[in-house]
Amino acid sequence: MSDLASTCLLLGIPFREQVSMKTKTSFKIGGAAALLLLPRDAEELSACVRLCRDAGEAPLILGRGSNLLVKDTGLRQPVVSTEELKVLNERSPGRLFCQAGVKLQDLCLFAQKQGLTGLEFAYGIPGSAGGAAYMNAGAYGGEMKDVLRSVWAVSPEGIIRERPTEELDLSYRHSVFMEDGSAVLAMEMQLRPGDAAEIRARMDGIMERRKSKQPLECPSAGSVFRRPPGQFAGALIDQCGLKGCAVGGAQVSEKHAGFIVNAGGATAADVRALIALVQTVVEEKTGFFLEPEIEFV
Ligand SMILES: Cc1cc2nc3c(=O)[nH]c(=O)nc-3n(C[C@H](O)[C@H](O)[C@H](O)COP(=O)(O)OP(=O)(O)OC[C@H]3O[C@@H](n4cnc5c(N)ncnc54)[C@H](O)[C@@H]3O)c2cc1C
Repeated sequence: MSDLASTCLLLGIPFREQVSMKTKTSFKIGGAAALLLLPRDAEELSACVRLCRDAGEAPLILGRGSNLLVKDTGLRQPVVSTEELKVLNERSPGRLFCQAGVKLQDLCLFAQKQGLTGLEFAYGIPGSAGGAAYMNAGAYGGEMKDVLRSVWAVSPEGIIRERPTEELDLSYRHSVFMEDGSAVLAMEMQLRPGDAAEIRARMDGIMERRKSKQPLECPSAGSVFRRPPGQFAGALIDQCGLKGCAVGGAQVSEKHAGFIVNAGGATAADVRALIALVQTVVEEKTGFFLEPEIEFV
């Protein structure tokens, strides 16, 4: 057992060793994480981050693993999962408090049941609230920036601080946390009163649109590439005739060219090779270089 695992044992912080990242990512790809820490509250998250730093390790903060490609050889760095951080409540009218590990799906359904509008856009994004704040996730004309009021984050030194949205530098799939290495602990959102049935209808409409356009039947990490200025990555890939193109078990989706799916037994190396192929062909034929949106760890 590593020193870090022994310390967690002493402090009573739950952890697991040699966890297959296939079970922790929507791509269902990746080797084992040597150590997966499972903090259950703010103090434990702060302790995990501090312990990693003391051990000279930069942890991977893991949400639902829906935007990650984990390498086949696995992760030696400690992984801190937010999955046990699940507090969600309405603190005052329209103001939701939500910890990082709450599934976006559950958050959207909670808001709908309270008759609160503003989060419909996020219905169907398969990430955690923490991952959504970190990525400033968005869809169908909405983004986290529109609803967030403040975020509590743990600095690499283990210090918990609440920061207002204006300080988070939220823009297209970007937040300040990408630069400062903080772990998102929790957030407060401000929503507006609405009719629960109408909110539900909008959510169902969005889910239908997702189902009709996205290959939700196959493991993936969603859109692989960022939108180039004024363009859609999927349209450019389609235009280059790359739909269905495959390397090993990784395939450009026939349904949505912006997605790469794990069509069966894909490795991270397959996905990386296919990404490189798509980037080369698209750049040659259209002049646009496609930057990955997914993260490689
Ligand atoms: C089918 C499908 C559809 C998708 N559709 C959309 C869409 O419409 N819009 C969109 O924006 N995205 C979409 N995504 C991508 C993905 O769901 C989002 O990026 C989501 O916000 C990632 O959240 P996560 O919890 O899964 O993060 P993870 O994949 O676990 O992590 C992604 C990054 O966030 C960091 N991170 C996660 N949690 C925290 C935290 N608490 N503190 C600090 N850093 C953290 C990780 O370290 C990593 O760098 C889609 C994915 C799939 C598979």
